[in-house]
Amino acid sequence: MDRDTLEAVIRTFREFARKELTREKCLELDARDEYPADLVSRMMGEDLGFHLVFLPEEYGGLGGSAYDVYRVCMAMAEVDLGIATAFFATSLGTDPLRVGGTVEQKSRWMSRIAGEGLVLAYGVTEPSAGSEVSAIRTTARRITNGSGKVTGYVLNGTKQFITNGGVAALYTILAKTPDGPSFFVVERGTPGLGAGRAEEKLGIRASNTTQVVLEDVEVPVDHLVGGVEGQGLIHAQWVFGYTRLMVAAFGLGAGSQAIRMARDYAKERVQYGSPLAAKQGYTHALLVPHAVALEASRAFVEEVARRLDSGEEGLGTEGAIAKLVSTEAGNAAADGAIQAHGGYGYIREYMVEKIRRDVRITTIYEGTSEIMRNTIAMDRWRASIQSRFAFYEDLAAAMDALHSSDPGVGASVVALAARMLNEVLRFARETRLTRKQYVLFLLGEMMAGVETGACLARRAAEIRAAGEKVDGLFFVIDSEAAGALARAWARRVSWEAIARASYCVAGTGSQGSDALGSVRSSLGLDGCFDSSVGAEADLDLVASRLTQ
Ligand SMILES: Cc1cc2nc3c(=O)[nH]c(=O)nc-3n(C[C@H](O)[C@H](O)[C@H](O)COP(=O)(O)OP(=O)(O)OC[C@H]3O[C@@H](n4cnc5c(N)ncnc54)[C@H](O)[C@@H]3O)c2cc1C
Repeated sequence: MDRDTLEAVIRTFREFARKELTREKCLELDARDEYPADLVSRMMGEDLGFHLVFLPEEYGGLGGSAYDVYRVCMAMAEVDLGIATAFFATSLGTDPLRVGGTVEQKSRWMSRIAGEGLVLAYGVTEPSAGSEVSAIRTTARRITNGSGKVTGYVLNGTKQFITNGGVAALYTILAKTPDGPSFFVVERGTPGLGAGRAEEKLGIRASNTTQVVLEDVEVPVDHLVGGVEGQGLIHAQWVFGYTRLMVAAFGLGAGSQAIRMARDYAKERVQYGSPLAAKQGYTHALLVPHAVALEASRAFVEEVARRLDSGEEGLGTEGAIAKLVSTEAGNAAADGAIQAHGGYGYIREYMVEKIRRDVRITTIYEGTSEIMRNTIAMDRWRASIQSRFAFYEDLAAAMDALHSSDPGVGASVVALAARMLNEVLRFARETRLTRKQYVLFLLGEMMAGVETGACLARRAAEIRAAGEKVDGLFFVIDSEAAGALARAWARRVSWEAIARASYCVAGTGSQGSDALGSVRSSLGLDGCFDSSVGAEADLDLVASRLTQ
């Protein structure tokens, strides 16, 4: 999509939401635990067709890029994460076809999804197979004719927590064939296919979530996605590349909306003779850290989206980092927004309470934060070992070079954190520390911090070099603000790196005090301490831009 088309889609969505998805309407759907079938079908109808963004052009879609999809997902999440999730599930349900379907399958079903606005459901999770997808028990038994040719399959099993489970027209179901897990397309109304009752959920209550039960569900052989058995887990893995970015966009959209509401509230609410927005202990604790974390996450999501759109492959780890940082930042921001509203934050009418409940799901579905930490740590551990620890040293060297050309974007602080991480990785190798899963998770967090820190520093340097002013999530970002945001994030990354490195090295009892002393001196703790110079001024600047 060209930039004008993308902006037109987002503008149209916002106009539609202003009329049809008002704050009252969203609160009402939430209170009634109601999936708005009529609204969703209008959103997928001829006039609006928002689902077309997620579909390729050759099958009647708009062929949205990863960047386009992220922007639209974020705009939807700003309004209602339940409705955004219902849309997302249709996109997710289409993905096995998109990445693995034959040409005939794509043109048969994707054209219908585009033209008829079909709602889809993606059926992977099962009662005993959540994070561990390969543990699925649903089976697909071959049906053969007299000459032994496979003519179809019989599916049996139960799928758990399926979004759109009770309302979909088409289901993509992962089931075990004799040659391994495979996706199947199952049409609504196929005998033996049924949905359980809608789950009562903490949040995203405008989305429909049910069990999907398959009892001797017979499908023709051409419903096997890709026409070859055993490709399902590969398809599911490919799907993650895009979908994790979409959930990252949900965290960003919901979290940033909560902070915008808190900021507006803080400007009006007067206590002790001045607006809350004028109080440093309020802004620097409840607003600024979230604004900084969300901007850092957004820069990373945009960088990954652009790399995906340029055809780069193998960005699964980056997708996991994007999801981890954005959804954790979105959750923390929504929580901060409740505190920032005081007692009113706890009251439904003020909306941040609903956002808090809604955004909670983003660290759970499409891979939990724990699974993200594990994925990041394992992938980068491998990259570090294979490169003889050059992976993060190269990143640190690139940050040193950036610091030489622009000393105002926190690049030297990111370099310090990257080298600290590398020292812990070396230490972990010597002491076989990665056998401890919690250490691995802490390493995953350090890696995510360092990589987002590097990304935000690069982005800030670009903005400053071009003398640009760009739209941020909360205010227009100019040279000065870009530098303050990047430096603030780099410091947080390095402070958190110290805490995690200390646990890994000193806290695990892996070494005697002499060895600890030598590791301690190589961690660069003093440099991180020194980098705190200017911290308050940067938070002050972000606070003043945020609340101006
Ligand atoms: C509202 C909602 C909508 C959903 N929509 C869909 C959908 O449309 N389609 C679909 O297929 N699925 C869907 N899901 C399922 C979702 O993806 C799973 O809930 C999620 O992957 C986690 O699986 P689980 O719930 O079985 O938790 P588990 O995997 O049992 O995890 C429980 C806890 O243990 C942690 N954990 C798991 N493994 C490890 C490990 N190795 N080491 C350390 N900690 C670990 C997890 O991080 C989590 O904190 C949905 C879920 C919900 C709640």
